[in-house]
Amino acid sequence: MKHLTQPDTIVCDRCGREMRANAPDLEHQERLAIRFRAGTDSVFGDGALVESDLCQHCVREVLGPWLKVTPDDPREPRHRLDGKPRRAYQEYQLPGWHDADE
Ligand SMILES: [Zn+2]
Repeated sequence: MKHLTQPDTIVCDRCGREMRANAPDLEHQERLAIRFRAGTDSVFGDGALVESDLCQHCVREVLGPWLKVTPDDPREPRHRLDGKPRRAYQEYQLPGWHDADE
């Protein structure tokens, strides 16, 4: 039987920063998880699995110029996200973080 696990400590694939769940620095909850299966004629290769865990600092360093950042109040948000995206990974394509049976 397959079950899904999410590690308590995730290491940034770019800088090696350790992001621990429930740590007071909150880095774990601010990470960006990229996990998707490439489609036909993808630049990554047909059907390739593409994954990366990045800390928030690397996301800003690498993608910063192209990110659209809208300041908002988390307690009383004035801006809403359409479709409730939670992270950049395509969850519908890859149902779990890690498949324990693979
Ligand atoms: Zn990093």
